[in-house]
Amino acid sequence: MNQTYHALALYSGGLDSILAMKTIQDQGLRVLGLHFCSPFFGHPDKIEHWQRTYGLEIHTVDVHQKYIDILRQGPRFGYGKVLNPCVDCKITMLAHAKTLLDQYGARFLISGEVLGQRPMSQRRDTLNLISKQAGVRDLLLRPLCAGHMPPTPVEEEGLVDRSRLHAISGRGRKDQLRLAEAYGLKEIPTPAGGCLLAEQESAKRFWPVLTRIPEPSPHDFALANMARQYWNKNLWIMVGRNKMDNDALERIAQDQDLLFKAVDIQGPLALGRRKPGMDWSEDDIREAALFVAGFTARKRSSGDPAQIRVTTSGQSRILECPPSTNAQSTTGWGDMSWDQARQEKQDWIETHA
Ligand code: SF4
Repeated sequence: MNQTYHALALYSGGLDSILAMKTIQDQGLRVLGLHFCSPFFGHPDKIEHWQRTYGLEIHTVDVHQKYIDILRQGPRFGYGKVLNPCVDCKITMLAHAKTLLDQYGARFLISGEVLGQRPMSQRRDTLNLISKQAGVRDLLLRPLCAGHMPPTPVEEEGLVDRSRLHAISGRGRKDQLRLAEAYGLKEIPTPAGGCLLAEQESAKRFWPVLTRIPEPSPHDFALANMARQYWNKNLWIMVGRNKMDNDALERIAQDQDLLFKAVDIQGPLALGRRKPGMDWSEDDIREAALFVAGFTARKRSSGDPAQIRVTTSGQSRILECPPSTNAQSTTGWGDMSWDQARQEKQDWIETHA
């Protein structure tokens, strides 16, 4: 049987979420932190450390597929600067947390949002929209900026002492650092976001996965986070940058994927994703082998063909390829820049408006 709690908290691991939990705990109430994990954010490996360091109770909540679906359908309330659908994200987390209240015997929800801290998701009108859309208007307490908000039912009935909540607003961290000291936090997390959807470097890897392959899975997004990424229409290969990448690609490859590796000279391992709806013709495989051979061209005497081993479903064969240093332009393979991904995102939004 699950333990019971007074409140469930959205816990990201950032300072604000820690302080929000501490504020309610400090009133003698039991709070359980929910740490949401998707392909784009979440650190389940840190839960133990957080529990020990901050004296909090935290459970993980798996929302991998849910977030892939949000991005595939296009967020209802739009994107932030990169691929971050912050408003939809908050609504999704709160609506999900609401469904867990009964399971944990909890009465209310808390989040570490601070009025005016983020331009998109923490304006007053957006905070109200989020609570309304998530159906948590009477359930959600924001302990860090509660003084700027109307009292919630748990404050009105006296379960939570409103006078011990805070009235923080704006983008600075001074108030939060003062509170961290007051609560005796042994470690202050850095303000970095930690959400890959808000980073161009990661977003340009995710965009083609979202838009070019059928039914992308959490495994596909794990691949998108690795190695160098190249696309040829809707075909996708990842090329290792070093031994660590090569080993990781080999470990994560699924049986039906294609592995390309030069056998006559040292070169990177490349993984071609193959799954239903991503069909590789013989010409596609040869062109990819040629592209992979290009990564070894500088190490060869000119004119020597490269021997590329192609392995799939336990079967290997060797293809001979003339190596070329400009394989990126002579084959259809190329990488995607953030500018390109951003333009495609814009086009997608206009088409689906
Ligand atoms: S930055 Fe990422 S995790 Fe945070 S609210 Fe936005 S989409 Fe969600």
